[in-house]
Amino acid sequence: MSTTITLVQGDITRQRADALVNAANSSLLGGGGVDGAIHRRGGPAILAECRALRASRYGKGLPTGRAVATTAGDLDARWVIHTVGPVWSASEDRSELLASCHRESLRVADELGARTIAFPAISTGVYRWPMDDAARIAVETVRNTPTAVEEVRFVLFDERAHAAFAARLG
Ligand code: ADP
Repeated sequence: MSTTITLVQGDITRQRADALVNAANSSLLGGGGVDGAIHRRGGPAILAECRALRASRYGKGLPTGRAVATTAGDLDARWVIHTVGPVWSASEDRSELLASCHRESLRVADELGARTIAFPAISTGVYRWPMDDAARIAVETVRNTPTAVEEVRFVLFDERAHAAFAARLG
């Protein structure tokens, strides 16, 4: 089964998919952007599971480039997969960590048996990664990662982000 990559412009919290990816921070305790929106619309069950993860497996937080799943609470999905993108750096190449977010999220999706997964443009908000480069890394990594996921949907918040991903998809 090959994986189809699709693009939509919109709010990821309005999407229906088996799994929605959250651009989390390592605390797993919420933040702004996608993270804030997911917790707001998904309700307290997601934060409760995140707290439990902090109290067990991830006492020091979720490392950058890794991914972990929780319930999706009230969202139209079965799971939220939280992943921590790297902060953009002009002096250090952190591309491998951004690629890892996509690979690890797909690995977790496969473990769960998810067939459809929606990604935001990880690291391109508060973490300041240039949109064109983030789109390149996201699309290349998904294309090169073997997975049983049937649809990978990138959900881009605005027209500029959508155009950057569309250009990469060709
Ligand atoms: P990061 O900290 O990884 O940079 P952000 O959440 O700040 O994560 O931003 C990641 C990207 O998601 C940005 O391009 C931002 O415009 C976009 N974004 C913000 N809110 C939403 C949303 N509700 N749905 C989809 N994308 C969103």
